[in-house]
Amino acid sequence: MPRKNFDKERYLIDMHLAMEKNREKLQVQAKRLAMLALCYQEEKNFKDAVSEMKRSLLLNQTIKNETVLQGWEKQLGQQEKTCPYGCGYRFPDNALHLCQKCSRMVRLCPGCDYPNKQYDCYCRWCGGKMPAPEKRKIKIQNIVQDWFYPLPIKHLSTPPVIVGDLVIAPLMQEGSLLALKALNGERVWQLEDFPGWTEHLELIHCYPYLYFYSSKQVGRLMPGLENLCPKDIENIHGEIKQSPLPVSFPKAAQKERHVVFPVNKGLLYHDMWRKKGTFLETNTKKNDILFPVAVGEEIFIFSRAGRIYKAGSGKITHYSMLPGTGKWSPPVYVPGSGLVYFERYTRRKRYINAWSPQTGALFSKPLDDLICDPDDSHFHYPPNPYKSGVLLVSGHEPLLYHVRSTGNDIQVKEIPLSITDGNRRVLNIEYLFSMVHEPYFISKIPGGFFYVNIENTKENGIEVQEGEMMCKPIVFENRLIFICKDGIRCFTFEERGGEK
Ligand SMILES: [Zn+2]
Ligand SMILES: [Zn+2]
Repeated sequence: MPRKNFDKERYLIDMHLAMEKNREKLQVQAKRLAMLALCYQEEKNFKDAVSEMKRSLLLNQTIKNETVLQGWEKQLGQQEKTCPYGCGYRFPDNALHLCQKCSRMVRLCPGCDYPNKQYDCYCRWCGGKMPAPEKRKIKIQNIVQDWFYPLPIKHLSTPPVIVGDLVIAPLMQEGSLLALKALNGERVWQLEDFPGWTEHLELIHCYPYLYFYSSKQVGRLMPGLENLCPKDIENIHGEIKQSPLPVSFPKAAQKERHVVFPVNKGLLYHDMWRKKGTFLETNTKKNDILFPVAVGEEIFIFSRAGRIYKAGSGKITHYSMLPGTGKWSPPVYVPGSGLVYFERYTRRKRYINAWSPQTGALFSKPLDDLICDPDDSHFHYPPNPYKSGVLLVSGHEPLLYHVRSTGNDIQVKEIPLSITDGNRRVLNIEYLFSMVHEPYFISKIPGGFFYVNIENTKENGIEVQEGEMMCKPIVFENRLIFICKDGIRCFTFEERGGEK
């Protein structure tokens, strides 16, 4: 078995360990781990053999396997802390969170201090569960451009996604998917000639897979593998030939082991474990568009025309109808509030709404946008969650709306922005290029970008850069990354005085 297949097997086992709640059922995984350990041992890779056997024993202690492990440990001797990405670098005792040789980010196991890939959810040495990466509180100051990956970009793009320590960017005009090291922008892999990809492509990361979908195709790959090649792509839409293909937006949703894609008149449920796609159809009118949203363990489906469906036990049933006429935007579920938020366009006015899946209550408030058009981009994407509510962008002035629940109603707070720097000034906000990373709001201005602290709007700034921004930026640790007309840029912001 080639080395890559070992890695694949390892990720699949990790997926089951991370998702399976029934401990009894994990016995199968204990056997798989012991098998994998034997494969490593046959290849004379004693380090990985020992590690996988330890993981197997954590799930199922057998005297036979314990004896095997002891024998291997003796053969292995003292274990060095080597780079988990395989570059050969030996980590010193007081190691940093990156490899000095290959510039990949590592996470040190809290149990045994062994360096693991940023992507790993189980330690590669002791087998213990790695804690989820800490969400750092950021402070934006001293912004500098850190790296730049030159590349001509013609079309607006979906933002890159972060997988482990990789920035994975869809490159539409080349029909390729590019993975760069977040630390220095170096290329790790690039999949060229992506199958049938000529248009807008969305990405969703459901560990250990990266799903991609457009109106022509759905597929997936394992981004954690080194040196990906076209045959590592699993074509999923081939499995559902009989159904219409997924639309390019809105977002797909994940419900435990299922990834749910909106399709013309229904949903495609893809079972990550069984590699099986099921198509569920609704009785919706032809021109309606469906927006799946995961609410805890359940999947609700909102439609552009205001219908709410619920998916369960292999079918989609009509659940509720929103009152009144108009067009509804894709929804977002904000767990802190227990509410699903979405916009509505009716009689030339813009409304923000919140619906309680528990009580069925609907709250609605008009917004002060003077000119509104159903084609405005904010009606086509879900609102941005922010602090147990949502944050909306005014369509025609530098103004944000913070909407949150007051228990038996919702409340809209206007946040005017006054951001200037020399002769540059924020005059309006482009929703398509805006993102929220608590407590900051970041968006585009011509020839640059601006940021503002939503809690204290006096803390703000404007930065200029070459090349217009072509997608929403993303924040990863103390990095701001986005695609521009001339390539991919990464800015860092330093935390002065050890502030966190
Ligand atoms: Zn390394
Ligand atoms: Zn460990």
